[in-house]
Amino acid sequence: MNLHEAKRDIIEAGRRVYQQGYVASNDGNISCRLDEDRILTTPTGMSKGFLELSDLVIVDYDGKKVSGSRNPSSEIGMHLFLYRERPDANAVVHAHPPTATGFAVAGIPLTECVLPEVIITLGAIPIAGYGTPGGPEISEPIRKWVQDYDAYLLENHGATTIGTDVMNAYYKMETMEHFAKILFVAKQLGGVNLLDERQVADLIKIRERMGLRGPQPACDWTPGVSQIQPAASSNGIPTLKTKSAGAPANAAPSGQNGNVQPDLVDEITRRVMQELKKLS
Ligand SMILES: [Zn+2]
Repeated sequence: MNLHEAKRDIIEAGRRVYQQGYVASNDGNISCRLDEDRILTTPTGMSKGFLELSDLVIVDYDGKKVSGSRNPSSEIGMHLFLYRERPDANAVVHAHPPTATGFAVAGIPLTECVLPEVIITLGAIPIAGYGTPGGPEISEPIRKWVQDYDAYLLENHGATTIGTDVMNAYYKMETMEHFAKILFVAKQLGGVNLLDERQVADLIKIRERMGLRGPQPACDWTPGVSQIQPAASSNGIPTLKTKSAGAPANAAPSGQNGNVQPDLVDEITRRVMQELKKLS
């Protein structure tokens, strides 16, 4: 990826992450692949809301600094882990969005079948067990989910998303937090009306017809019963592929203003509603 474009995307995603309140103080980190030897990352110890081009740091796939006047993110190890495990991921966003993180603190994964566009674009968002931030222990609990999902809650910590590019990973973070807010309100109002197995199967058919793939089962359709299980084994071959939800093969690449994903979500919602009408 072009270095200047990559820098601009990371700065824009950092600005949005901070403005949306997904991070406080100097929290959070964002990175993307530049090529097979280098990763561009946010620096440690700085607010992600006000970064400048010269603040970003280039590291190699061992996390060693290649260039930049600042030091790389303290969570670069988790980013490197995700790039190793998911060759299809080109960007990682880590933040502490308060509602989704609240679910992670409460031990409630975002796996219920509630919103069609979430089922189609993310499937579900499982919780990876706790690991000390900044160390290698944070990555290992993600391993069991990494092949099947693109968004992970981190127990008592925050959330991480991966994507085909920086804005794609950022929009997954936005979708996750939006979903968490809606689910929280529904729970406050007295209950969550889950989509049932047939309705979910219909969404999966639509997803397939749209050329998108994702984990099966995509979400939990029975109250209190988890259909979501980690992948039995990891053979290094990516099996998922909610990534394609953010960038279908025939879609134009995300521009510097990152407008592709919101349009896509609108389009998915419109087509889902159309298909559901046909089925009913
Ligand atoms: Zn964090």
